[in-house]
Amino acid sequence: MLIVQKYGGTSLADEERIFNAARRVTRLAQQGAQVVVVVSAQGDTTDDLIEKATAINPRGAAREMDAYMAAGEQLSAGLMAMAIGSLGYPAVSLTGWQAGIVTDDVYGNARIQQIRTERIRQELDRGKIVVVAGFQGISPGGDITTLGRGGSDTTAVALAAYLQAQVCQIYTDVDGVYDRDPRRYAGATRYGRISYEKMLRLIENGAQVLHDRSVELAREHGITVEVLSAFTGAPGTLVGPMQ
Ligand code: ADP
Ligand code: ASP
Ligand code: MG
Repeated sequence: MLIVQKYGGTSLADEERIFNAARRVTRLAQQGAQVVVVVSAQGDTTDDLIEKATAINPRGAAREMDAYMAAGEQLSAGLMAMAIGSLGYPAVSLTGWQAGIVTDDVYGNARIQQIRTERIRQELDRGKIVVVAGFQGISPGGDITTLGRGGSDTTAVALAAYLQAQVCQIYTDVDGVYDRDPRRYAGATRYGRISYEKMLRLIENGAQVLHDRSVELAREHGITVEVLSAFTGAPGTLVGPMQ
């Protein structure tokens, strides 16, 4: 059984939350699953990095912005691998390019073209939990690219597709997909299950809970994506084909 789990920025914002995620991951490994964990940059890191870069050069080259911004996810990957290690499990962190994620060269909004999964497979076969830095890849010319804001979701779904994972779980700071933003509308209702098409319409109307490309990819590959709270044990939402 191979499981891909993705943790968003708020779900990794501090040490306690990183350990919370690391414990969930190690429980799965203990039960015999192979686990690939995709991580976002902690808290507001990406916004802070953009602000810093813009202060240095408001018209900085897109190539340099991507090289700089991708670091946020790499920091998270290192921390997560160390947290898992401190719980007594072998883990390895990989950047997008180490994980074989090849994109086009549209800096800031790159699309994944291919994933060369050999390295991840090798690490999983060695019994390691693999932690992949989300939101990034490498262009055919060898440069670091980023996938657009919210793009770690797409890293997770693409990995689930290429690795033929049985489960793809997106852990975030709300317990699923709602008909409206649950943080802004107290009366919002959670979906137990939602079709790809309906999810894409919600995203078009501003629901940033999933990156649009991640839902398109899930639809292309017939992957059911589970959106869950990183903080509660609540059931969450399944995004999948129409029943
Ligand atoms: P992450 O850092 O885990 O990727 P995001 O901030 O990208 O999290 O997405 C989760 C946020 O999406 C929630 O905190 C919520 O406020 C917002 N959101 C907007 N619309 C919706 C919706 N329809 N259902 C659920 N969450 C939504
Ligand atoms: N850290 C990136 C962002 O803030 C990617 C992600 O969170 O999915 O957009
Ligand atoms: Mg997000």
